[in-house]
Amino acid sequence: MEAFNLLIDGQMKPGAMTMKITNPATGKILAECPRADERQLNDAIAAAKRAFPAWAKTSHAAKRTMIHAISDALAARLEEFAQLLTSEQGKPLHETKKELNGAVAILKILSNLELEDKVLKDTKTEKVIRHRTPLGVVATITPWNVPMSLLAVKMTSALITGNTVVAKPAPTTPLSSLRFAEICNAHLPAGVFNMITDANDLGDMLTSHPDIAKISFTGSTATGKKIVRSAASSLKRLTLELGGNDAAIVLDDADLKTVAPKLFAGAMANAGQICLAIKRVYVHESQYDELCGELAKLADATIVDDGLKQGTQMGPLQNKMQYDKVRALIEETRHEGNIVAGGTFPEGPGYFIRPTIVRDIDDRARLVREEQFGPVLPVLSYTNIDDVIERVNDTEYGLGATVWSADSDRALSVARQIDSGTVWINTHMMLHPDIPAGGAKESGMGVEMGMEGLAEHTQDHILYIVK
Ligand code: ADP
Repeated sequence: MEAFNLLIDGQMKPGAMTMKITNPATGKILAECPRADERQLNDAIAAAKRAFPAWAKTSHAAKRTMIHAISDALAARLEEFAQLLTSEQGKPLHETKKELNGAVAILKILSNLELEDKVLKDTKTEKVIRHRTPLGVVATITPWNVPMSLLAVKMTSALITGNTVVAKPAPTTPLSSLRFAEICNAHLPAGVFNMITDANDLGDMLTSHPDIAKISFTGSTATGKKIVRSAASSLKRLTLELGGNDAAIVLDDADLKTVAPKLFAGAMANAGQICLAIKRVYVHESQYDELCGELAKLADATIVDDGLKQGTQMGPLQNKMQYDKVRALIEETRHEGNIVAGGTFPEGPGYFIRPTIVRDIDDRARLVREEQFGPVLPVLSYTNIDDVIERVNDTEYGLGATVWSADSDRALSVARQIDSGTVWINTHMMLHPDIPAGGAKESGMGVEMGMEGLAEHTQDHILYIVK
């Protein structure tokens, strides 16, 4: 494999140190990866700061043209990126291609959006205009579950609004991001977009650095809270997309034959490692046995293997830490519910867990209350809709939720009562670059995508004219 480099000030540079990246399907070393030290982090921030004034003055049309060129170049190398992303992240090729096609579209659609001046007041004597100005250097910090599409959202939002970027991918999935940085470097002026990698040791330095104006972070709620503390030093602006414990509520008129495969896909895509995955299912008691049976059948039929192999439907967990965590949770769950499918860990060096369905489990069990972030799904029953809404909302999380019903008005009245950033009805994970998404409660702060997401990368600049 061709060497990977950091991107600092328009130059692809080796890291001060190196680290090894593991393929989670084989447990083997996939590549040697650069690892930045503090000096390189500071160099990247300084380069972004120097590049900011000229980039802030660059027209929207010129910025859009460059970002479209990046999108086209990524699209042209989709197969190569899919192989690399599956090798480091684990999910099957059809899922990485979906993610990469998403990134290609995000780069285009988000950069087509433009925040224009708005006249807030215009009378005989005065005129007030809301103009928006970029903030400065934005730190984008991405996790290991969906590295490329999240990077696309964060960098496009920051760049198209006139900010410069220092990007830091997650330590276990940096390779596709670093390859992508080469593409970005070919189309952007030096210093506008920089990328450093770490071994989980530079995040705090990056987020507390005085020259970082804003942090755009996706990751766990625990790390999100650390970032809020780091940001306090200079009141940095924040967009945080954190953990979720998304519930699916199946109303008693739902057609389970249609709904069960959608619930299963919503819970098990990327081996359950998605913040917006379905993490608990509530179904009316009259349909409880039937739905548990359908989900168990789907779980038993799933082909779990190396994501690079044709026919694989679910890959391994992305890293050893997450594998150990989910495995321990499943072991604990054996005493708290009935495992009706899965609960087994295929032999081999990879971090594989069979999709697992758990029934007859109490609301207070850890699997129901915490974010499992893995292929294990608890199914709970309810008798009364008001009661289930209360149970669904009884959590510190509030990222997404789904409601399933033959009657979309009925589903909508339930959806309105769910305390989360997004509620989907009869579908799941529909995300459009021009529609904002964010988390309620401890699932986040602010929104990403849409005009609202772009606005979070700017300062309101009110121009007040007396005529
Ligand atoms: P997970 O628990 O899903 O592995 P984290 O939320 O810990 O995810 O990590 C997501 C991203 O945040 C990674 O790129 C990681 O290196 C980074 N990170 C970890 N600790 C910090 C920190 N204190 N400040 C900023 N970023 C951090």
